[in-house]
Amino acid sequence: MTKQDIASVKQLLATKKKIVIVPHKNPDGDAIGSSLGLYHYLLKGNHDVHVLVPNDFPSFLKWIPGSDSILRHDSQTKMCNGLIADADIIFTLDFNALHRTDQMEQVLAENKGVKIMIDHHQAPDDYALYTYSDVHMSSTCEMVYHFIDMLGDIDLIDKDIATCLYVGIMTDTGSFRFSSTSSTTHNVVANLMEKGADNAEIHNNIYDSSSYERLQLLGCALSNLVVIPEFRTAYITLSQEELNRFNYKKGDTEGVVNYGLSIEGVILAAIFIEDKQEGIIKISLRSKGNFSVNEMSRAHFNGGGHINAAGGKSYLPLKDTVEKFISILPSYNKALNDE
Ligand code: 5GP
Ligand code: MN
Repeated sequence: MTKQDIASVKQLLATKKKIVIVPHKNPDGDAIGSSLGLYHYLLKGNHDVHVLVPNDFPSFLKWIPGSDSILRHDSQTKMCNGLIADADIIFTLDFNALHRTDQMEQVLAENKGVKIMIDHHQAPDDYALYTYSDVHMSSTCEMVYHFIDMLGDIDLIDKDIATCLYVGIMTDTGSFRFSSTSSTTHNVVANLMEKGADNAEIHNNIYDSSSYERLQLLGCALSNLVVIPEFRTAYITLSQEELNRFNYKKGDTEGVVNYGLSIEGVILAAIFIEDKQEGIIKISLRSKGNFSVNEMSRAHFNGGGHINAAGGKSYLPLKDTVEKFISILPSYNKALNDE
């Protein structure tokens, strides 16, 4: 965002506006944290603000301040469409292409108001009047912090805003361990703690709230893990039957893909999760170093994301999807073994 853009946005926000904030489908900690952090900030400007999510989000995020005011487009469609049609400003957070909101794509595209994108994914589409895109950022939450700072409003950050933004920085950085974590990230986090974010409590709410069945599902996933040493790759599968057996709930498989990367020498990890209802296999890819799972997902699995974390989907059965994954590994042999 240029200085001119910031000045224009500041002027836009100087008078009361109808504002809608939208994160991507299957919102994660960064999507919900950034949306609600921005929500609390905009409320202080006396705007009429709503956070609209395409579909449900995990229960381990449902304690975040403001989470009970979130509207779901899949179950409150008419109300959400009305708010979108009437909005003067639409903030799109933590995604880079309108189709990432699934069934909301068209109604968002039809709105003639001002769109503002804040996002850290690769290759953003050009749909917003103001695009704040930075692939080097740890998280959209960190970017919302910088956005508020650029608008000169750091003093408005209170405990609620700080808590929301801390959530997304923590979850998107794997608790500050991924290489996307910069010294600036740590400075931002330190400031958020000074504003009242309780690091131990937030970590506890997100990570120490598992059910017994979720841990059993993790055990099942780990026993399904396969390592392919010649390609420094590990993958996990979870069938719908396995998910049902452990009473799967949204969010239960979050982070499971990372276990593959914890094996010495492995630099590419994948998880394939069957979703019979949607008729797809949901794929998550993770890597270490320069190996780009964003490229792999774009080229083969209808998805995208970041260099070291990407998602996608397959319309083939689970077994065939895994076979396809194994069959493309030789074409990445050099990249996987040169790392
Ligand atoms: P996850 O594997 O946790 O679902 O997603 C990893 C990263 O890739 C996240 O930043 C997420 O936003 C992005 N991502 C996940 N699924 C897709 C997808 O289908 N398309 C694109 N472009 N990005 C995705
Ligand atoms: Mn993110």
